[in-house]
Amino acid sequence: MSDKFDVIVIGAGPGGYVAAIRAAQLGLKTACVEKFKGQDGNLALGGTCLNVGCIPSKALLDSTWKYHEAKDGLAVHGISTGDVKMDVPAMIGRKNTIIKNLTGGIAGLFKANGVTTLEGHGKVLANRQVEVTGTDGSAKVYEAANIIIAAGSQPIDIPPAPVDQQVIVDSTGALEFQAAPGKLGVIGAGVIGLELGSVWSRLGSEVTVIEAQDKFLTTVDEQVSKEALKVLTKQGLDIRLGARLTATEVKGEQVVVTFADANGEQQMTFDKLIVAVGRRPETKNLLATDSGVNLDERGFIFVDDHCATSVPGVYAIGDVVRGPMLAHKASEEGVMVAERIAGQKPQVNYDLIPGVIYTHPEIAGVGKTEQQLKAEGVAVNVGVFPFAASGRAMAANDTTGFVKIIADATTDRVLGVHAIGPSAAELVQQGAIAMEFGSSAEDIGMMVFSHPTLSETVKEAALAVNGAAIHVANRKKR
Ligand code: FAD
Ligand code: AMP
Repeated sequence: MSDKFDVIVIGAGPGGYVAAIRAAQLGLKTACVEKFKGQDGNLALGGTCLNVGCIPSKALLDSTWKYHEAKDGLAVHGISTGDVKMDVPAMIGRKNTIIKNLTGGIAGLFKANGVTTLEGHGKVLANRQVEVTGTDGSAKVYEAANIIIAAGSQPIDIPPAPVDQQVIVDSTGALEFQAAPGKLGVIGAGVIGLELGSVWSRLGSEVTVIEAQDKFLTTVDEQVSKEALKVLTKQGLDIRLGARLTATEVKGEQVVVTFADANGEQQMTFDKLIVAVGRRPETKNLLATDSGVNLDERGFIFVDDHCATSVPGVYAIGDVVRGPMLAHKASEEGVMVAERIAGQKPQVNYDLIPGVIYTHPEIAGVGKTEQQLKAEGVAVNVGVFPFAASGRAMAANDTTGFVKIIADATTDRVLGVHAIGPSAAELVQQGAIAMEFGSSAEDIGMMVFSHPTLSETVKEAALAVNGAAIHVANRKKR
């Protein structure tokens, strides 16, 4: 194999593998370096997202929701199920099969597109060279006209809760429980904590979520986060806000957790504790001291709007750089960089990256929140339409939540679309499409939507912006 490539990508997560495939499609001789080993001990492509992130967590969320529905949600439809049981190891096995199929799929795509896989740990040297060290310790240096760093992120460890993957686990360990813990503690009420807390709560765990911040889901639109707190609490998650973990002590098969909140110091005992306090960029042994690639003050690789680092020809994308730690953001950056290397001029619209929390109901948003726009002094009109008024939601017995559309008060241009409710992720994506084309609320309101659909809540919320929703009493008539 020649040691020279047009592009070497480090990391085969949704940032790196997408960048590698796009670069190869554009005729660039491309290699991708990856070191992650799957549960069978073989190299597994796909990164955090496919192996221990988006896909496995959604597999468990879907399985446990079906269980919950079968157990408690079908009687209303006249369906009696008898004694519904969950075989947790079978559920985990199904999740692992999905991972294997998808990661194998990436290997197939690499082959089909002519991407060379280099197995081992990649390190960026000076002069656009990449050293790849195999598991046997042997190292080989490759030359690249361009390097794309897509090394991703790792769970943050906090000293008061050292992860042993037995009693105190991170998100990866929480995807592997072979039985629902009796009492489950979750540190951090972020996206990952809430999703994994929901999985095990649906299987009968008594879940307590300990969150340091006083406010719930601070990056989400406040009206949505308030509803989310109400709904998730009603589902049985005991969410303690303003509660900071200070110590843990593993005692046999349990862990005693100490935290401080408004009531002073408290202690609780759990059978398992999930530490979900965020993720840090993975830059360990990634950059040689003379590589010239700079980090920012938070330890992320410093890049400009086009993901160029401080070294010409070296780019970085995904979780290892600024911006939301989301798979779709990583992938879009990967495509942008590959196309820029090939001489094209694409951009990523960082203002329109949707975010989703896959609880039930889903929580999703794109664009600005009402609190952000208020802080910026932008005058807005807001339209809200509840699922309780949607015929389709009623037919499905899934009426919690609402769609909210925020538009500029002067131009009517849509500035944010937020939702909590059934299929919120898919509905908010409609808002993202509209916003990408500079749509006004009136534009959305004038479109024909199929009846009965959940999508009609988007139309009605858009109509509500100007006081013209049909199926609710509007606060302001026009
Ligand atoms: P990663 O996916 O982390 O991939 C980086 C890859 O680089 C890894 O395979 C790693 O082994 C490899 N690597 C690192 N350093 C080296 C090196 N030096 N040499 C060789 N290889 C190296 N995001 C969503 O958008 N939607 C979701 O629903 C979602 N759910 C999530 C659920 C969980 C439990 C977790 C943990 C994350 C979730 N995320 C979700 C976040 C998402 O997984 C990440 O944003 C995404 O994977 C980032 O992609 P990436 O390519 O930047 O990095
Ligand atoms: P995210 O970054 O979305 O994954 O969320 C992680 C959450 O963990 C944030 O809301 C943090 O406030 C919270 N967090 C971080 N450290 C602690 C701690 N020691 N105790 C409780 N919550 C914490």
